[in-house]
Amino acid sequence: MNKIRVTFWHEFRHEKRNEYVSKLYPGGIHSVVCGFLNEEPDIEATFVALDDPEQGLTDELLENTDVLIWWGHLAHEEVKDELVEKIAYRVMAKGMGFIPLHSGHKSKPFQRIVGSTGNLSWGDNQREIIWNVSPGHPIAAGIPEHFLIESEEMYGEPFYIPQPDELVFSSWYENGNIFRSGLCYKRGVGKVFYFQPGHETCKSFYDPNVRRIIVNAVRWAKPNDFGFPQSNDCTHTTTKIKDEFDK
Ligand code: ZN
Repeated sequence: MNKIRVTFWHEFRHEKRNEYVSKLYPGGIHSVVCGFLNEEPDIEATFVALDDPEQGLTDELLENTDVLIWWGHLAHEEVKDELVEKIAYRVMAKGMGFIPLHSGHKSKPFQRIVGSTGNLSWGDNQREIIWNVSPGHPIAAGIPEHFLIESEEMYGEPFYIPQPDELVFSSWYENGNIFRSGLCYKRGVGKVFYFQPGHETCKSFYDPNVRRIIVNAVRWAKPNDFGFPQSNDCTHTTTKIKDEFDK
């Protein structure tokens, strides 16, 4: 069985500046997320960071990534536009899955791929209830009707995104805000899943339901088993259907 090759791209700045965050996520958020992903028999997860050469994503690594998970917050603007274009191309033309977590709603690749600002309302950490609004969806497999996160950063509506193709989770916060917190897009031949939990001072990546959702999302977002090659120039020669079926 070919494992799903996941690359976790991490800005990796908070852990270096904030002792609380570095203690909460020893080795960095990427270590914790890759740790639980690698417990799955069909997933092989590695991580890279913004400060790595080529901002972590060489052409070779991108070409060998089935699903790219993205966590960025402080340094969205540092990500080079040229890299953003390569990511968007690999999603749309080659089918790489893209999973921006939490503040990835303002990342350049998310904005480029879905086509909006990703702006939202923001507030302090508080209790969040995540509602499963699409129980039949593959990403909701094994997830209860709702679950509570004791403390998570409030992201609220209005969320300036194109209408998602599928809404899987919706959140309520104790201050009264609501948010479309788990949503899917298809772009070209690629799939995108945005998921809200994951603020650096919160424990969300230890929550079993959050973990299950990310694992499910990786399996959902992997490239399809395409029945024809996805060409490099993104175009295909015209198929002579009549000849084919007249034989
Ligand atoms: Zn945050």
